[in-house]
Order: sequence, then C-alpha cells, then structure tokens
Amino acid sequence: MNTASTIKRIALFGSTGSIGTQALEVIANNPDKFSVEVLTCNSNDDLLIQQAKKFNPNVVVITDETKYTKVKDALASTDIKVFAGEKALEDVASMDVYDFMLAAIVGYAGLKPTLNAIKAGKAIGLANKETLVVAGEIVMQAAYEKRVPIIPIDSEHSAIFQCLVGEVRNPIEKVILTASGGPFLGRKTNYLVNVKRDHALQHPNWTMGAKISIDSATLMNKGLEMIEAKWLFNLRAEQIEVLVHPQSVIHSMVQFEDGSIKAQLGLPDMKLPIQYALAFPKRIANNFPRADFKKLRNLTFEEPDIKTFRNLGLAMEALDKGGNLPCVLNAANEIAVYAFLRNRIGFLDMTDVIESTMQKVSFLQKPSLDDYLDSDAEARNYAADLIKL
Ligand code: NAD
Ligand code: MG
Repeated sequence: MNTASTIKRIALFGSTGSIGTQALEVIANNPDKFSVEVLTCNSNDDLLIQQAKKFNPNVVVITDETKYTKVKDALASTDIKVFAGEKALEDVASMDVYDFMLAAIVGYAGLKPTLNAIKAGKAIGLANKETLVVAGEIVMQAAYEKRVPIIPIDSEHSAIFQCLVGEVRNPIEKVILTASGGPFLGRKTNYLVNVKRDHALQHPNWTMGAKISIDSATLMNKGLEMIEAKWLFNLRAEQIEVLVHPQSVIHSMVQFEDGSIKAQLGLPDMKLPIQYALAFPKRIANNFPRADFKKLRNLTFEEPDIKTFRNLGLAMEALDKGGNLPCVLNAANEIAVYAFLRNRIGFLDMTDVIESTMQKVSFLQKPSLDDYLDSDAEARNYAADLIKL
C-alpha cells in the first residue's frame, strides 16, 4: 500500500516542453506514486498557469521576468509561490520541497539548475543532454561526491542504462547508439543545401521540441549523445559506436567483453524512458501501445554518412579531443540552430558556423566550471558575430 511518505516529490524543470508535458502525463497517470512540487518554464505563461492549476505545486518559476505579473495574478487565489528570472531558477533547484529533479530544460540553460540540484543531493532524471555535453566531468564528479543517481531519459541512454542493470562488475566492450537518421536519411549535400526550417522540423519517428528536431536532422543530436554516453557510462571515445536504424525500435545496445550484446527495444515513445527514470528501480504497469514483432519485419541497419552530415564528424572530433571543445561545439550549435529556426542561415551553414567557432575559441584541456562558462560565452559571441545576429 502506498502512503504519503512513499510519494516521490518531483521538480519538473522545463515543464512546458515536449518532455515536460509528457512527464506530466506520466505523473497524472500515477497520482499515488508522484506529486509535482516545482514547475518551471522559459516564457509559455499560459501553459505554466494551466499546469500549476492542475498539479498544484509548491513553486513555479518563469524565466522570462516580463511574464511574472501575469503568472502571479493568475495564481493569486492559490498557495503556489511564483518566482521569475534565471537566478530564481537556480535557487529553486536547491529547495527542500522536492526529492527528484526531472531535468527537461533544453540547452545550456539547464546546466546550473541541474548542478545545484545535484549539490543539494537530489536524484536526477536527465533529459537535458547539453548539461553533460557542456560540463560532463564536473556534473558527474558532483553526482559521485553527493552519491546522487543520474538516470538518463534520452531514449538511447535509458536503453543502455537498462541493459546495464545487473552488470555492475562486468566491463563494457562498447555501446552501440542507434540513430533514426532523421528526416534526411540518404540525402546528399546537393539536397540539404536547399532544406528549409519547416521541412527539417518533421521527424519521421518522434515529435520533439524544435532544437532537438533540427539536431536530429543534422545528426548533431547523435554527436551530442555520444558525448553524453561518454560521461554517463564512463566510456572512451572508441567504445561508442553509432548505427543508423531508421525504425527506432532498438533504442541502443551494449556489447560486453564476452561478445554478448544486450539491447532494449520498444515502440518510439518518450513516455517510456520518462516513466522508467521516475519510477527506477521499479517498473510501472501502463497501457502504452506494445511492439508486435509480427509487424516489425524490417529492422534495418546502416552506417552513418559522416561525409554528408558533417555535424556528427565535428561532434566526434570534440568527443576525441575533450577539454572545452564539446562545450564550444554545443554553444556554436545552439546559436546556429536558433539562427536556422529564424531563417537567418541555411541548413549547411550551421556546420560552417560550428566548425569556425571550434577553430577560433582557445582550447583548454582541463577546464574549471568558470572556464566552461567563459568558453560558452566566447563561442556564442563568436558564432553570433559570424551570422551577424
Ligand atoms: P522543448 O523545446 O520542447 O522544451 C524545452 C523546455 O525548456 C520548455 O519548458 C522551455 O520553457 C524550457 N526552456 C527553454 N529555454 C529555457 C531557458 N533559457 N531557461 C529556462 N527554461 C528554458 O524541448 P524538449 O524537446 O522537451 O527537450 C528538452 C531536453 O530533452 C533537451 O535537452 C533535449 O535534447 C532532450 N530530449 C528531448 C527528447 C524529446 O523527445 N523531446 C528526447 C530526448 C532528449
Ligand atoms: Mg535520443
């Protein structure tokens, strides 16, 4: 029987996004297991207000301070505390009102709140891969010192995590990260040069936020995931392989030293890894659609085309060299993706912006947190100048 004390108190950072709203669906289906104590978003005030009224959290934060009064007024008849601004987002991450942070902010903005949550001893369900790309060593070290678990939500990393349950003492030979290939699988440069925003946003298997959709179209997403895997599972670059698997049924695999390979499979639905992270180590029954092997006759595999999708090659270079290079890659990519989303640059220009920024920003082999923050700012400024933003 569940009592109030067994209810996990959740802080959902990035509640209005694709992952955030799906997490709220999972939580709403399991009111005896989870309560929502913190909701945060960047600027979608209407949805935040609606979510707050439904889930009655302790605190809400809206980063965009111009929206504060509207949210505050809308929730005036409740006990919900309302804060605004970046600093509030970071401070709320350290509050006592919750046990488990679901980190679903997109991009670099997720780093500081997640680090604060770790330092405050909170368990983390990590969707925000950029946090590990930017400062993986520091984040993992803080988690180790605080003995807090970081449970991946990215479907590939959730798959690897699930394959590793019960294998604590068995070294990994390699992991195989599967990639759908995105909407432009099989296309060449002469096609990509004309690709427009709306087309690039159409992913064949997943409905996701705008930034990760573009990253999936350029294959940068898989590069970021290689770096994410390095930190989560303590791997060397050469132990991380990418395999294109357009059906997105095998979510990833682990090969052990005896040559045996474990895979985790399922239909592409982010609610599954979200629920797994929230409930870990338990599994919760649900009625999500099931995979039927009789209908999955064609599971296919191919090598990624790094010559055409050069962002993946750049991410591999950053993974190899380490230091602040992944942080620089990430910052330049964020600027390039947002410029592409605003129709300011073309699809292939994104790669050029990232490549030049990686060459320009000074390389640091062993950066401190401040060095990462500086490298991020320098890379953003340089990339924005290139695009004339
Ligand atoms: P999204 O754009 O749909 O939502 C992002 C959320 O972050 C929103 O709530 C937004 O308000 C908030 N946010 C954005 N910028 C912010 C800022 N500067 N400060 C504070 N909050 C900010 O993104 P998403 O698709 O839900 O992705 C979230 C994260 O999860 C990303 O890191 C993504 O790579 C990762 N992820 C997403 C999926 C997916 O299916 N959507 C799958 C795997 C991993
Ligand atoms: Mg993924």
